[in-house]
Amino acid sequence: SLSQRLNQSFKALRGQARLSEDNIRDALRDVRMALLEADVALPVVKDFVAEVRQKALGEEVLRSLSPGQVFIKIVNDELTRLMGSHNDRLDLQARPPVVILMAGLQGSGKTTTSAKLALWLKEREKKRVLMVSTDVYRPAAMEQLASLGRDIAVEVFPSHPSQAPVQIARDALDAARKQVYDVLIVDTAGRLHVDEEMMAEARDLTAAVQPTELLFVVDAMTGQDAVNTAKAFDTALPLTGVILTKADGDARGGAALSIRAISGKPIKFLGVGEKVRKGLEAFHPERMASRILGMGDIVSLVEQVQQEVDVEQAQRMTDKLRKGKGFDLEDFREQLRQVERMGGLTSILDKLPGMSEIPSEAQEALQDKKPMRRLEAIINSMTMEERRHPEIIKASRRRRIAAGSGTTVAEVNKLLKQFEMMQKMFKKMGKGGKGLGRLLGMNP
Ligand code: GDP
Ligand code: MG
Repeated sequence: SLSQRLNQSFKALRGQARLSEDNIRDALRDVRMALLEADVALPVVKDFVAEVRQKALGEEVLRSLSPGQVFIKIVNDELTRLMGSHNDRLDLQARPPVVILMAGLQGSGKTTTSAKLALWLKEREKKRVLMVSTDVYRPAAMEQLASLGRDIAVEVFPSHPSQAPVQIARDALDAARKQVYDVLIVDTAGRLHVDEEMMAEARDLTAAVQPTELLFVVDAMTGQDAVNTAKAFDTALPLTGVILTKADGDARGGAALSIRAISGKPIKFLGVGEKVRKGLEAFHPERMASRILGMGDIVSLVEQVQQEVDVEQAQRMTDKLRKGKGFDLEDFREQLRQVERMGGLTSILDKLPGMSEIPSEAQEALQDKKPMRRLEAIINSMTMEERRHPEIIKASRRRRIAAGSGTTVAEVNKLLKQFEMMQKMFKKMGKGGKGLGRLLGMNP
């Protein structure tokens, strides 16, 4: 799979000091192969690899991360960007009835997805939805939609195969207006292959009902074909978005990448099952990217570290510990600030090995923001000498510091105790331990 394959090339990057033309060559080749195998279109793959290469070469590797991790993050970011960066919602702001027209090949899942969308809009958006089938070619098609409508208690405008598709759509829109529906979903007929007659009908329907959303429904399992079909539909029709169906199968994810890159149209939903209930998911590029990579945890960890850790500060700390210098209250305050910026430790605890070694009292101190600010206030009230040499802080100094920081002597005592514990912990981590020290770049 894509993720296994990438995993291997990332492993090869382990132990490298930085990302260079030389050491990313194999990883890039693997990314390229993996994407091609996942059915991503060649031009898209070429652009993608070039982009990743450029980003990787310009990237500084934080000491606390391995080049492999940084590379994964770059690939992940590019995947996400390629798929559109954010979730595009349906446009429901137009004057009701908002018309949603479903287009796509036969068997792509238009009828099923019409019902899924109807249920979604009814339950999540509290919309009154009307559906209509304009598929006059397959006798069973209209009954299929009617039956789905009964299952989910959504009205289906009655239509008959003897009528003209455009007339059916017009009548349904009239009815939706008169009966004040919020949304009208128009299911259309598809064919097995792209042909001019199908496109002409879809264009006529589009002209007749002026849809706010013209959604292209495509089967993710069809790989490269999905891309070609998407191109044809996008050229012929003013598509507003894409729904990728059958994403629950072992589709390799390539369709999602290529379709977005080639058509420029956002994927709005994924079809993830035959069942109407629970068979539809909003499409989130970042989730799809980490699904493709299968490395969600690493990616979010790298993100947090990159955002929040002050590289230079971490570097100073590492040097200091290496030279055997002590961890003082200045450092303690800096650690508190960094952890606070990361939103407390809770969010990263489970991702780190070795956290259980930290005394629970110290963990508590790190997780809660409010006490953290009080701790900082106490340290702020100390003189530089006191911060550097905490052992000189005897009773009278403690009283002065408490008064100066608006806290109590008990709190000052507690802080000094916690500091001592942290000092011990960091000493241990500086000597090759794992966990927080490594995360903060303190572990050579
Ligand atoms: P249409 O010809 O475009 O209207 O396609 P249909 O809605 O009739 O669906 C064709 C087949 O695909 C049916 O057997 C559906 O149950 C199946 N199908 C549709 N969407 C999905 C999906 O997201 N996942 C799976 N596994 N099957 C789907
Ligand atoms: Mg159908």
